[in-house]
Amino acid sequence: MNETSVAEEAERYLQILADPRSEPAPTECLACFVARMLRDFGCDTTLRWAQRFRDLRSPTATGLERRLGNVGGFCDCEIFLNGYRLRRELLVRDLATDELEAPVDPPPCAGVRRTSTRPCANWERRSRYDTW
Ligand SMILES: [Zn+2]
Ligand SMILES: [Zn+2]
Repeated sequence: MNETSVAEEAERYLQILADPRSEPAPTECLACFVARMLRDFGCDTTLRWAQRFRDLRSPTATGLERRLGNVGGFCDCEIFLNGYRLRRELLVRDLATDELEAPVDPPPCAGVRRTSTRPCANWERRSRYDTW
């Protein structure tokens, strides 16, 4: 990355932070927030959206990165690749492939306590043998 693109990336990030959509809604959970941010802004191979959620909503949750790492989430998109998926009931069947897929319009967050960093009832662990 050259200096210009570093500056541009920093500028872009500041613009995102100034956008009211980049803040979690009052009872929105970490998983729904991070999924929403990934859809709009992508993953930068860090936990920046999970950390932003924590900083805004639950600054004392200092074990968050370790907890996400325990489910294979070392960056924002890995939280979903390895850690959590939408519950089966919320998926829709793709008529072409007959596979269950996440709906184009994500379901509204089921809501969590304001300081919670846990996923809401829309999400389940990819492996049922691990615990959050
Ligand atoms: Zn990622
Ligand atoms: Zn949620």
